[in-house]
Amino acid sequence: MRHIDLRSDTVTVPSAAMRAAMAAAPVGDDQYGEDPSVNRLQERVAALLGKEAALFVPSGTMANQIGLQLLTQPGDEVVVGAEAHITWHEAGASAFNAGVQFVVAGAGGLFSAADFQAAFKPDNHVVFPPTSLVCIENTHNRGGGVVFPQADVVTICDAAHAAGCKTYLDGARLFNAAVASGRSLAELAAPFDVVSVALSKGLGCPVGSLVAGSRQHMLRAVRARRRFGGAMRQSGILAAAGTYALDRGFDHLAVDHANARLLAERIAQTGAEIDLATVQTNIVIFRLPAHLPDAATVVRRAGEQGVLVSAFAPRTVRATTHLNVDAADCQHAAEVLAGAITAS
Ligand SMILES: *Cc1c(COP(=O)(O)O)cnc(C)c1O
Repeated sequence: MRHIDLRSDTVTVPSAAMRAAMAAAPVGDDQYGEDPSVNRLQERVAALLGKEAALFVPSGTMANQIGLQLLTQPGDEVVVGAEAHITWHEAGASAFNAGVQFVVAGAGGLFSAADFQAAFKPDNHVVFPPTSLVCIENTHNRGGGVVFPQADVVTICDAAHAAGCKTYLDGARLFNAAVASGRSLAELAAPFDVVSVALSKGLGCPVGSLVAGSRQHMLRAVRARRRFGGAMRQSGILAAAGTYALDRGFDHLAVDHANARLLAERIAQTGAEIDLATVQTNIVIFRLPAHLPDAATVVRRAGEQGVLVSAFAPRTVRATTHLNVDAADCQHAAEVLAGAITAS
């Protein structure tokens, strides 16, 4: 039985053409700054994001952790949206590495400048933890792949900078946000001091993220990466996959978004709770009310028919579309999931 794997968009495998590009990549020791394939990718991504410099790192999690190292001090408070990757999916790394604490603003991953203001604490108070950073996740993973409205991004970052706060964009899914919103990566990244993007999600690369910002920040980021054990050597073999993906362009993400929509609309007919307004990119999150089977049951039943999805919480399921599934796969998966939800 062929599996249709919708657990994550990280399950894609590199195509033959991507592998060929990786095999052919010129490489050198990146710790000496001598890997031409890494240098090329870093310059290209910095330019795409409108930043002075970028640094290739092994994962989106490391990119986020480097961002915190650059922009906070232990004991600081960081304003973040609900259920952010940096607080929910990094095994406590933010507390462990940066020693920061978080305050949640807004709901569903989104928040406004007023929410930021309400959470903000000044750095001259005798008992409050100083707010030194605001983090925005775009698109927001646990928010269902929702695009953070750019008007809010701009007003939040303006308010943060006016208050002496830094701004960080967890843009692991920024390519999806760009395609869904019709805005350039540079426009989406402009309000932020430091930005990350992932190659291993929608772009279909096997490994890698980049963190970008000012030249000064990236000099410090090189040392932070080293401290985390993330410095690599002939990593051009990995970076070449990123260059291959950027050469291909990322308009194909619109197909993933249409496939997620198709899946979501079918699931909405089953009695599962799904906010179709949040299905803007390649993620479909639905909740199973008490009269329907729980997430573990739906995941098991669908799995028995070759459709793999994730239990995100006891009554919450996530399905994610990507390069390795097409519309026919998603149509089939939608029927299997609908059956798994409605079977008695
Ligand atoms: C996947 C993801 C990350 C982390 O990526 P890894 O490469 O798995 O560490 C960070 N932020 C968001 C929003 C993500 O979706």
